[in-house]
Amino acid sequence: MSTAATSSQLPVSSIIVAIDGPAGAGKSTIARHLARHFGLLNLETGAMYRAFALKALRTKTALDDVESLERLAEATEIRLESGDEENSVLLDDEDVTGQIRNPIVTDAASRVSVFPPIRAWMVRLQQQMGSKGGVVMEGRDIGTVVFPNAQVKIFLDAAPEVRGMRRFDQMGPEQTAQPEDVIRELRARDERDRNRENSPLKAAPDAILLDSTNMTLDEVVAEAEKIVMKKIAG
Ligand code: C5P
Repeated sequence: MSTAATSSQLPVSSIIVAIDGPAGAGKSTIARHLARHFGLLNLETGAMYRAFALKALRTKTALDDVESLERLAEATEIRLESGDEENSVLLDDEDVTGQIRNPIVTDAASRVSVFPPIRAWMVRLQQQMGSKGGVVMEGRDIGTVVFPNAQVKIFLDAAPEVRGMRRFDQMGPEQTAQPEDVIRELRARDERDRNRENSPLKAAPDAILLDSTNMTLDEVVAEAEKIVMKKIAG
């Protein structure tokens, strides 16, 4: 059987798939699946904001002091390494992957990410990482700011209560939060992400909207796969 590409086919090795949406919408699961399925690099940009927030907390830099945060950023190196299960994130060469998912870092990440100089720095790094294509990049502003020319843009959403419950169910038996605490925290982060002045969370005009409120993650994965497949086939 011939495998020669027709002129309308898009080589997978050059494709950029942008997945944006609020917390708990299922972006990481979808991105991981698409990366495996299509042989793409999976890059979770939220991990970068989280690593920087961890540094701000460790150095006791005020999370609302943009000048100090900017100075801190100038003395910080953040690298993402795509892995099979999740990304590893290196903060000044230290692997901090296991330290960035707790509620304190989560809250701090959503605070430091509102500042334009911090975003400009992150966007630059993300553009460098994805410049060769062959990536699924997941975040809040990938289709709007980081790669406005991405060939595939998916905006993944779901009702806050559904996203909160999914997060709660993922948290495991040793956590002490109640479901309503998780939903409240998620709404607060949504609020900051959607209303910040610089690159707020919103769907790019050419993004395909996927609302997973009444879908299982398996169904969303299948739908996302179809969307990418269609683009590749041209
Ligand atoms: O995706 P994740 O929940 O790990 O992101 C943590 C925080 O980083 C988000 O709440 C958001 O404020 C910020 N973020 C962002 N832009 C991105 C990715 C994450 O502002 N592209």
